[in-house]
Amino acid sequence: MQDTISIEGVHKWFDTNHVLKGVDLNVGNSDVVVVIGASGSGKSTLLRCVNRLETYTKGKISINGDKVPSDEKEINSMRSRVGMVFQHFNLFPHMSVLGNVTEGPTQVRKMPKKEAAELGMSFLDKVGMAEKADAYPETLSGGQKQRVAIARALAMKPEVMLFDEPTSALDPELVGEVLTVMRDLADDGMTMMVVTHEMNFANEVADSVAFMDQGVILEQDSPSRLFSAPAEQRTQEFLSQIL
Ligand code: ADP
Ligand code: MG
Repeated sequence: MQDTISIEGVHKWFDTNHVLKGVDLNVGNSDVVVVIGASGSGKSTLLRCVNRLETYTKGKISINGDKVPSDEKEINSMRSRVGMVFQHFNLFPHMSVLGNVTEGPTQVRKMPKKEAAELGMSFLDKVGMAEKADAYPETLSGGQKQRVAIARALAMKPEVMLFDEPTSALDPELVGEVLTVMRDLADDGMTMMVVTHEMNFANEVADSVAFMDQGVILEQDSPSRLFSAPAEQRTQEFLSQIL
């Protein structure tokens, strides 16, 4: 069966800085792949290439068989197929929680307001934030903001979800509520690529873990094998620093 996310030989230069050096990574339908690796290894750049926040220089990325376009005009249609959640929430501060969630469906998908509000409430309910629909982002905790950010991404009915260190900016006591929402999503069959240092999450939820090192995926394996017996010395060194 065709992979939902296919990344083949992808290279990316920022001027002379060769950041992605031939990345190959596939994510099957309903699979969760956790990407780990040292700071600066290219994890964020890779995710940003998948939803076309960055252009890549060489290689090919496809979502359900459709190539992520280089043409500016086609970007929006592709971007709405790929939901992304960032470390720093990026909610619109001047909009209510519900407004944040309905912005994409009304502006990009041209959905009528009433329909978008119903859809938005159903996703807020899913992340446990329906009661805060009328609140503004500044009044929310970090964990609540991140759950709204997840609902906002889901409201576009994406085919895949990308998470870039979604709990790294949170106080420790707020991490669990976000991971619970992500776990529920995985259980619902969402195809996910997750950059995180939460190794318990990786162990319990990931179908595979990919170790990124200096712009390539050095190895990819089941969490149990990668964490207990990595094939590569560099993976071992990285794991010994974080576990
Ligand atoms: P990670 O997420 O694994 O920490 P990044 O993808 O953020 O790694 O960064 C990989 C490399 O790309 C770093 O050397 C970083 O300085 C560089 N880089 C990232 N974004 C940009 C950018 N917008 N412009 C120039 N260089 C960048
Ligand atoms: Mg990063």
